Amino acid sequence: MQRYADRVALVTGASCGIGAAITQELLRQGLTVVGLARRVDRVKVRAHPLPDAPGKLHAIQGDVSNEESILAAFKWIKDNLSGVDVLVNNAGIQLFSLLISAPTDFWRRILDVNVLGLSICTREAVQDMLARGVDDGFIIHISSLAAHTPPYNSDLAMYYASKHAVNTLLEGLRKDLVARGSKIRVGAISPGLVKTEIFSHSKKITSDIFNVAPCLEAEDVANAVVYMLFQHPRVQTIDNP
Ligand code: NDP
Repeated sequence: MQRYADRVALVTGASCGIGAAITQELLRQGLTVVGLARRVDRVKVRAHPLPDAPGKLHAIQGDVSNEESILAAFKWIKDNLSGVDVLVNNAGIQLFSLLISAPTDFWRRILDVNVLGLSICTREAVQDMLARGVDDGFIIHISSLAAHTPPYNSDLAMYYASKHAVNTLLEGLRKDLVARGSKIRVGAISPGLVKTEIFSHSKKITSDIFNVAPCLEAEDVANAVVYMLFQHPRVQTIDNP
């Protein structure tokens, strides 16, 4: 982890759940972490550095479904820190939306955050790394088991499709970087059920599910991020379910 001490990581969706846990773990490993979310006050509370964590947290407000907001965040990082060395595309939403009847807006919201927001953040981070000659940069997508299976429920098909897209986009990015001879690494993590607030707006699945189904804790996913970063530069963990 020495390699990334004092380097800058951007974690999207850092105000709770997996993103907050990843932020805290990277702070513990000595990185400077920019935690981005719409509810910036919650980033400060939920992702605050744990005692003795050497890293520094910068909580910034941002909406990954809004390109201007993303560009403003990257500009803030460029103006105030060196740039982004590690990007963790964690922000994601899950909305139940049947393909034969859901309002288009539901699908748009899923795709704007899970696919387009992730793609814009990735483009900006890679451009920044290439411009600064950062050859040990790392892009990590928080994908899902949903990227590897058919939809569990018919009303989750758009969410599953968004996560299938995430893994396809990752492979496209990897090929692009390899073709350029870049050593920037990419990887995805595909967790199963994780105990977070992801179902907090759902009437269909409530947090009771965590009492009956086996589930991971957000810290488990954060540890997987550290595992990927910690490997020798020759090791690229493409997907870490
Ligand atoms: P939570 O609902 O607990 O957290 C989601 C995070 O994303 C929040 O910090 C939220 O911040 C942020 N977010 C949502 N929309 C936006 C937006 N438009 N702009 C910026 N930030 C946004 O979910 P999880 O922690 O569970 O999920 C994190 C990731 O893990 C997601 O990509 C999810 O798909 C994936 N995942 C989750 C699993 C689970 O079972 N929990 C399983 C597999 C994958 P705010 O609202 O403040 O903006």
